[in-house]
Amino acid sequence: MISCKEITDLLADYLEGSLDQQTVQALEAHFSGCRTCDNFLETYRTTTNFLRELGEEEVPAELKERIIRFFREHRGRQEEEPGGEETGSG
Ligand SMILES: [Zn+2]
Repeated sequence: MISCKEITDLLADYLEGSLDQQTVQALEAHFSGCRTCDNFLETYRTTTNFLRELGEEEVPAELKERIIRFFREHRGRQEEEPGGEETGSG
């Protein structure tokens, strides 16, 4: 079974179509059962499509990190990382 954490690592390859069919099926099975990851997929897809229209060849690492961080914050089921939260005003 693929975990939510693995989804974030595999998602980029999944959308590029560079994963094995077995892995693809595992991801899609997870998406249909996990609403969080399903939403994450949609966000990621929308973003990458938008960038493609702009002519970007690939998703900038910075943006990719932002999306993944957004997703991780929404996970919030695992133990919290021993580092402290960072709060910013905005
Ligand atoms: Zn999930």
